Amino acid sequence: MAGLYLHVPYCRQACHYCDFHFSTQLGTQEAMVESMGREVETRIPEPRMMQTWYWGGGTPSLLTSAQVKTLVDGFIRHTPLVPKGEFTLEANPEDVSDVQLRSWREIGVNRLSMGIQTFVDRRLAWMNRAHSGEQARDAVRRAQDAGLENITVDLMYGLPETSLSEWQENVGQALELGVPHLSTYALTVEDKTALHHQIKKGTTSAPKDERAREDFLWLRSALRTAGWEPYELSNASKPGMRAQHNSAYWSGEAYVGIGPGAHSYDGAAIRQWNVSHNLRYIRGWKPGASPEGLVEVEVLSLLDQKNERIMTSLRRMEGLLRSDMGPYAETLDRRWKSFLENGWMTATDSGWVLTDEGLLWMDMVAAEGFATAEDLGTFVSS
Ligand code: SF4
Repeated sequence: MAGLYLHVPYCRQACHYCDFHFSTQLGTQEAMVESMGREVETRIPEPRMMQTWYWGGGTPSLLTSAQVKTLVDGFIRHTPLVPKGEFTLEANPEDVSDVQLRSWREIGVNRLSMGIQTFVDRRLAWMNRAHSGEQARDAVRRAQDAGLENITVDLMYGLPETSLSEWQENVGQALELGVPHLSTYALTVEDKTALHHQIKKGTTSAPKDERAREDFLWLRSALRTAGWEPYELSNASKPGMRAQHNSAYWSGEAYVGIGPGAHSYDGAAIRQWNVSHNLRYIRGWKPGASPEGLVEVEVLSLLDQKNERIMTSLRRMEGLLRSDMGPYAETLDRRWKSFLENGWMTATDSGWVLTDEGLLWMDMVAAEGFATAEDLGTFVSS
């Protein structure tokens, strides 16, 4: 069964590091909601049950209660959620009010993903986030008081001019709030972001790999000591509280993406993505207009599919299964021998798992394992 992803492409202000698709021009939200409704009813005319709903962005918490209701009504008709299915909504702390929380609860949201990044006010100002550390703590407590206890918090590590103790303090604050899930990301400098520009001009410092490495390694080990499961490169939870929607991505299951910039995958060979342009998307899905040119489609070859499986599996605590690789497993044993010897990887009865240190080198390990056209025969015979 597939999951539904909705991309809400609006933000109050642009965080300096962010290269996601969003606009700070909020005046088109109403038209956007109408076009999203038309996309879902056109692409999925007959109801198709979904295991999970995930509303991300951008900032879904910027939608008004009425807009949220319109979207939910359309999704219930075309992509209904299974009973007790996971419905995650991404929210920024500055939008979390008791009124909003009540309306999210009423329409069935049962998991909140809170974009916090850090509790330290001067770092938040440096990132151009629209909230303070206190607002972040208050938002989590309000959500818990409203009965929304399944909360994940996004935190960012490896920030320039920070120390391990600052990171420890940030993680400590999230754990003290009693959330059952954390998503943690190293700060990366993406092209065309304000941060990239500032670093080039020399007005701010670039992040250092060593800061990110130390923060990451400490986090994994501290969370295990606290009884958590760091179950994926960027995600950790208390036992039984993994993100179902994201876990389905990493296991290669199908998902339907609605909204500008949203990606979809059929669980086999077809991947497609919507145009990352709000006005083109809105116009293309207007009544009587043609959505032609709004979607790009990629057909994955068998080789692409196998290599993607290698990449996504290495992110996970369960690692890559030998059974997924057929006879190619023997090639991987050879290619990954040095990583098994240097401690980046361990071999289990079922396959290969990256160690914490190895996860820092995941791209290199995966690239070493990627199959080429010469290896194709091994797959075809598997
Ligand atoms: S990090 Fe989130 S809130 Fe900030 S600009 Fe990017 S999508 Fe918007």
